[in-house]
Amino acid sequence: MSIAQSLKEVLTTIPDTVTLVAVSKTKPIEAIEEAYNAGQRIFGENKIQEMARKYEVLPKDIKWHMIGHLQSNKVKYMAHFVDLIHGVDSFKTLKEINKQAAKHDRIISCLLQAKIAQEETKFGLPFSDITTILESKELAELKNVKITGLMAMASFTKDSKQVKKEFDSIASFFTANSTKYDLNTLSIGMSGDFKLAIEAGSTMIRVGSAIFGAR
Ligand SMILES: *Cc1c(COP(=O)(O)O)cnc(C)c1O
Repeated sequence: MSIAQSLKEVLTTIPDTVTLVAVSKTKPIEAIEEAYNAGQRIFGENKIQEMARKYEVLPKDIKWHMIGHLQSNKVKYMAHFVDLIHGVDSFKTLKEINKQAAKHDRIISCLLQAKIAQEETKFGLPFSDITTILESKELAELKNVKITGLMAMASFTKDSKQVKKEFDSIASFFTANSTKYDLNTLSIGMSGDFKLAIEAGSTMIRVGSAIFGAR
């Protein structure tokens, strides 16, 4: 199946209220152009410099989302153009994003990454640390970042009951806190589990291989 066909197939299975981020990491410019020509405008990358290279050569109405783990020293390479940063899991990183955003007179939207998976290797914050950050005076002082929601990755398992349990846990935390902290985005769901994520209440899914093929 072509990229355009796969994209269409994913889009027909998701409600209009759910935003699709097409995850183009490791894929060539031509693949992104094919999805762009089929109407897709939001793309996700997990390496800052790769995203910056693609930003340079592709149409400027693309919205670029950083979905990978962040190295603070590289934030400067995307601060002038990134639309949304999904994987923020420390206050230190938020401070760096704020500093770089200020240089470009921008307010950069960020999602805090929650730890919901059982696996040890996943990044992310416990819910209690998320609350601490959202409540903190230090956050209120960062004028060039805005936390607009939460992001998480479920355990890498075929056990859909486990995945559902993890998605339900972040969805209820999100629902309980969204009004209070003005959060509008819940970024959960990838190629293998986006249907479960949408059932749980996802508002934004990050889909790579189901659109662009295996990496
Ligand atoms: C690669 C990646 C995705 C997309 O994964 P697929 O299984 O190819 O859909 C989503 N989110 C993050 C954080 C990723 O790194």
